[in-house]
Amino acid sequence: MAGSFDVVVIGGGPGGYVAALRAAQLGAKTAIVEKDRMGGTCLVRGCIPTKALLQSSELYTMAKDGAAFGLVADNVGFDWAAAQKRKSSVVDQLVKGVEGLLKAGSVTSYRGSARLAGKGVVDVGGDQLHGKDIIIATGSAVARIPLPGADLTIDSDQILELKEAPRRLAVIGGGVVGMEFAAMFAALGSKVTVLEMLPQVLAMVDADLVTAYSKHLASLGAEIHTNSKVSEVVKQNGSLLVRFSTGGEGGAVGADQVLLAVGRVPYTQGLEAEKAGVKLERGRVVVDDHLHTTADGVWAIGDVIGGIMLAHVASYEGVCAVENIAGHANRVPDYHAAPNCVYTDPEIAHVGLGEKEAKEKGIAVKIGRFPFAAAGRALTLGQTEGFVKVVADAGSGQLLGAHIIGPRATDLIAEATLAVQNGLTLEQIDLTIHAHPTLPESLMEAALAAQGRAIHTANRRSGLPTSAASGGTSPQGGEVSTPTANMQNRGEKMSAPVKSSSPPPTPSAINPKVLELTKNNREFLLGMHRQMQLIRRFEERAQEQYTKAKIGGYCHLNIGEEATVVGGILALKANDWIFTSYREHGHAIARGVDPKAVMAELFGKETGTSHGRGGSMHLVDYGRRFMGGYGIVGGHLPLAVGGAWAVKYRKQKDVIFCMFGDGATNIGAFHESLNMAKVFELPVVWFCVNNRYGMGTPVEKASAVADIYKKACAYDMESIQIDGMNLREVLLRTSEIVEKTRKDSVPRFIESLCYRFRGHSVVDPDKYRSAEDKEKYRKADPIVAFEHELEESGLADEEYFKNVRQEVDAEVRDVIEFADASPDPNPSDLYKYTYAGQWDNRPELRAERV
Ligand code: FAD
Repeated sequence: MAGSFDVVVIGGGPGGYVAALRAAQLGAKTAIVEKDRMGGTCLVRGCIPTKALLQSSELYTMAKDGAAFGLVADNVGFDWAAAQKRKSSVVDQLVKGVEGLLKAGSVTSYRGSARLAGKGVVDVGGDQLHGKDIIIATGSAVARIPLPGADLTIDSDQILELKEAPRRLAVIGGGVVGMEFAAMFAALGSKVTVLEMLPQVLAMVDADLVTAYSKHLASLGAEIHTNSKVSEVVKQNGSLLVRFSTGGEGGAVGADQVLLAVGRVPYTQGLEAEKAGVKLERGRVVVDDHLHTTADGVWAIGDVIGGIMLAHVASYEGVCAVENIAGHANRVPDYHAAPNCVYTDPEIAHVGLGEKEAKEKGIAVKIGRFPFAAAGRALTLGQTEGFVKVVADAGSGQLLGAHIIGPRATDLIAEATLAVQNGLTLEQIDLTIHAHPTLPESLMEAALAAQGRAIHTANRRSGLPTSAASGGTSPQGGEVSTPTANMQNRGEKMSAPVKSSSPPPTPSAINPKVLELTKNNREFLLGMHRQMQLIRRFEERAQEQYTKAKIGGYCHLNIGEEATVVGGILALKANDWIFTSYREHGHAIARGVDPKAVMAELFGKETGTSHGRGGSMHLVDYGRRFMGGYGIVGGHLPLAVGGAWAVKYRKQKDVIFCMFGDGATNIGAFHESLNMAKVFELPVVWFCVNNRYGMGTPVEKASAVADIYKKACAYDMESIQIDGMNLREVLLRTSEIVEKTRKDSVPRFIESLCYRFRGHSVVDPDKYRSAEDKEKYRKADPIVAFEHELEESGLADEEYFKNVRQEVDAEVRDVIEFADASPDPNPSDLYKYTYAGQWDNRPELRAERV
């Protein structure tokens, strides 16, 4: 046996056989050498046999639950041997299919182990094949680790040949292979325990999908131990025992079989690659970006080159390599839209960038989610677990990634893959007619949700783009919904419709012109007025709720500060960050955080901004870049410095806006923070809301420097004092300072002089202020003052103001009803998910409880 060919392919897996077929298609005389069965790992020991068995376990699960569908099948059982038989016949059929394709494609097939035997020569058991070009596609093999007792374990090849399903299965390694077997055997009733060294199983999957999946697996009685290192496997009482340690604590799990699934390694055994001038690096064949190795005329593709070790990637690379050989195209593989599928139950699939990756790359993204619980088709299938999540560029709307957990996720990913590959936008996806009822509608809905336009799920108020620096992203699409047939969402049912409480749309640049009291600016000016009224009413009613003990901890009253708050915050751009005192609900509302979520948080409810974890002590909304603060006066100033460091490090043009009261300016953290911001030139605007009675002490008695803005001189920092009772002045002057800082990344300081009309809260008897003092400032009430301006310029009249008052009154009533009707967090979860970002990763929990 000998022969001369244009192309000789070594290895008949999905990389090799596809390359051979494409080469033949392009007119190359082609040979392929395979030492085992045609189809490689994929067909014989990987993708196909596992999916055939998973199909059996899925059917078993469905049949067990079949009564609800009207299926009468008593005593449903599982015949492992029959499932194995079916698996083998599927494999055989496909192997035969590949052999037939090669034959029909005029590819000459050789059976045997190939070795590189000089330039252009491939030796197969002593026979020599000559190839102008050679493609190495020898794939990968199961990885082994030096684990005491490893010989007692089985690998992914062996588990496929088991004669019976193990009663107890321990899986070492929570990667795709390990988790697929875990899912399959858990569904068949095995007691499964997964031991994973990393903090998360399926490390490459977005955390929120993994959380949803882990929950499902746990419901089947399986256990997952993350951060757990296995130390040994031993025999004990006729079965096996796996010893491991989690965070220094020892543990052990008994098992009948132990699957060692710690990955795969490139396979080049017997190839004598290095002798032929092919460089290897930690076992993998090194290729350039055209898939050419270091030896002339030798190419490599698939698992053997490392990278993304998946069948479809191997095939894709096979085609690229062959087309490069043929000179038809200068193909450099592009992996940015390589889909990744996990055939667990529910299935998981993702393509493109995840939230975390986007963050790491410094890309501002918007997120849209759609739960299958709201998809008609999912309901008819009886498979409503999971959701679709899209990640899109915040500016252009281009789809960057999609992440799906749920029924047929591995099929659904195809549409998203096409979109990511071709740079389609969310709008292009939602403008495409999707058949109904189908699962792909869910992708369309997620795309709509990302734009705040979801139809079959509650939209979160459209908000600011989320971004890299946010440390988390906030979905603008609702996770909460009911099926198509009953589209009213619970949030709506709980409250009568009220006019939107969004902050007014801000002009792109703040200057004296846009603040003139003219008709052109009417909408904006009235919007600001309404916002101030809303905040005031909210605070008044929040105090009442506090007296009814619906709000725990502490509840501040900041009446009188509205112009300072609204003017200061509207001076910011969407991407700027707010760090403020822990108790500032008005600040949150001015930033556009949903008042319902703010009140619900004060009530400690599940629907709150921090899902009841923050209560009156910590309001946060990453999506709006509202970072709240923690429950110590002035404790958030150093946090703002940290945020500014992050912005500076990422070379972003965002400004950190740090708001605090006069009481905070006498503590060490204030001085350290200002100092550090100046020394390192960090983009912070320090914004002191000086209501003149910090901690109940008049400023002049608490501080030797009563003009607080002068304290900034100590740090050589530009600082100004503004009239915090005058809305337009606050907005204009704050905006000037913010824009300066955006430009040069130098910190600046603003002292906004205002007045708090009442004590800290209803429990503050407010004895430290004189009646005259109160009377004097009462006259300067910022809302009344602004109403005068609007009235005098003919932009509004008393009737209008009355209507606004009624409207916001109704809105706040509604907000309270919403908070009242909202569910409490599950007590067993209270110590989990204390950080808002974690909750954004748990939409399935929100969906259940909201
Ligand atoms: P392989 O498929 O490994 O093929 C290499 C071939 O080369 C083998 O047939 C081997 O016998 C032959 N060979 C090696 N050396 C020589 C030699 N010297 N001479 C002649 N022949 C040689 N991927 C997915 O995309 N989806 C999945 O669902 C999926 N599931 C998997 C499940 C399991 C349990 C496993 C183990 C893998 C799974 N994979 C999956 C991965 C997938 O199987 C591989 O990525 C894919 O098979 C790689 O293709 P390849 O052509 O590079 O190599």
